Amino acid sequence: MSVLDLVREDLRDFAGYGSARSTRLQGRDWLNANEAPWPNAADVDGACRRYPEPQPQALVDALAALYRVDGAQLLVGRGSDEAIDLLVRATCRPGVDAVLATPPVFGMYAVAARLQGAAFVEVPLVDGAGGLMPDLVRVVDIARERRARIVFLCSPANPTGAAIEAEAIARVAEALRGQALVVVDEAYAEFSSQASALCLLAAHENLVVLRTLSKAHALAGARVGVAIGHPQLVALLRRCQAPYPLPVPSVALACAALSAGALRETQRRIDAVCSERTRLFDGLLRAPGVRRVYASDGNFLLVRCIDAEGAFAGLLAAGIVVRDQRGAAQLGDALRISIGTPEQNDRVLDVFGAPRDQQSVTSSAQCMEAGAQRLPGEGASR
Ligand SMILES: *Cc1c(COP(=O)(O)O)cnc(C)c1O
Repeated sequence: MSVLDLVREDLRDFAGYGSARSTRLQGRDWLNANEAPWPNAADVDGACRRYPEPQPQALVDALAALYRVDGAQLLVGRGSDEAIDLLVRATCRPGVDAVLATPPVFGMYAVAARLQGAAFVEVPLVDGAGGLMPDLVRVVDIARERRARIVFLCSPANPTGAAIEAEAIARVAEALRGQALVVVDEAYAEFSSQASALCLLAAHENLVVLRTLSKAHALAGARVGVAIGHPQLVALLRRCQAPYPLPVPSVALACAALSAGALRETQRRIDAVCSERTRLFDGLLRAPGVRRVYASDGNFLLVRCIDAEGAFAGLLAAGIVVRDQRGAAQLGDALRISIGTPEQNDRVLDVFGAPRDQQSVTSSAQCMEAGAQRLPGEGASR
């Protein structure tokens, strides 16, 4: 049994595009890629004249250090969105295989399935005292029954904010060993008190973890995300990826954002978001018109309202745009609100008519207490 048994048979020996950068040639005068001999007048340092490395080594190294994995386990791409698309294309034969996910959840899994012509199998979240959680026993049963080739678990989940324990993810991966890839989308892991599923990779070759610089690292516009998994799977995904996926300016910015100084600053901002999340949560709980606020391990809160349409309109009238979730299954009365600056969060609380606490910004220490994971270079990891 190899992890490659989980990908499409017709792609297992696919070599992909032989780009000008991927062949290991030496030379002084590079005339093999039809690049321009002179930089564009607007390209002041000439950084963009040539095609980039397909997987820029400095960025791969920095991301491997950040997530404490080996570079060979890591595929860098244009956000986790690209990784989701590549994973579905690599595992599912059009018209034959199925993708499983747990709605209400991030919409890209369904989009990728649709584009690939794969069936999209839904195992709805269950609303209970602990929040909106996936029924993982049912996930395994249905994945077997429908012979899903790929199962997406979002943790912490968008839009619910709920995280799944690593042990529970391990059980799913174990149960679907040899049958399906289990992809844990950890776009919000930095805001979570749960351990990352990265610690499970060594024991579960059918597990893939998605991380991104878009959320906690504040680089949504740079489009840098990773899939972390078995080196053989990563090598295959690289061959399925576009030849030069990462623009030179994005790579430079991402590398700079992964310096020790920038990471320290990022950790402070994560701490501030976590402490604001607590404050907004407490305020909304006491607001009239709020039916339920879900505890969140992400940088957002899912809020059920007595009159969601009115709340949405009221926020909009105050210039505040939140995510209307009313179109999603089980969320006919819900809004998703991203944690903003303390001033923005105050405005949200005002529109909801919530009693406001005196202090806006709680200390990093309180956030530590909430148990957010630490980035390398800033305290112990957990
Ligand atoms: C925002 C988000 C992403 C998108 O990440 P990119 O790296 O920007 O493509 C992926 N998964 C979830 C659950 C998200 O909420």
